[in-house]
Amino acid sequence: MSDDCIFCKIAAKEIPSEIVYEDDEILAFKDINARAPVHLLVIPKRHIETFNDLNDDDMRIMADILSRIRDLAVSQGVAERGYRIVVNCNRDGGQEVFHLHFHLMGGRGFSWPPG
Ligand code: 5GP
Ligand code: ZN
Repeated sequence: MSDDCIFCKIAAKEIPSEIVYEDDEILAFKDINARAPVHLLVIPKRHIETFNDLNDDDMRIMADILSRIRDLAVSQGVAERGYRIVVNCNRDGGQEVFHLHFHLMGGRGFSWPPG
């Protein structure tokens, strides 16, 4: 746990969030500033700062996160119409919270390329 990390605090339940899925290693919760009708954040509970910081040992949990996102897309009702999975990395990627997270967004159409 990183002391001043907001997502570590959410994972530790020190900050409330609307949790939609949880297991020992993964948490999925609603984005506080939803940009789409479905906007979830899916995180490893363990603090990993950015996508750059992933190592080979993290790939099993990354696979678990991706299969969880696939299932959440179904349970959130967006799988058939479609959705977007986003990871913002560092400054150019627009990362604001430095605890690795996957955005799962759906329920409306998205433009391409992103801004
Ligand atoms: P980033 O730009 O780092 O990829 O996205 C960070 C996301 O975290 C933003 O969409 C923002 O709305 C969300 N967020 C920031 N603080 C909180 C919080 O305290 N609770 C929840 N649920 N979401 C947050
Ligand atoms: Zn953290």
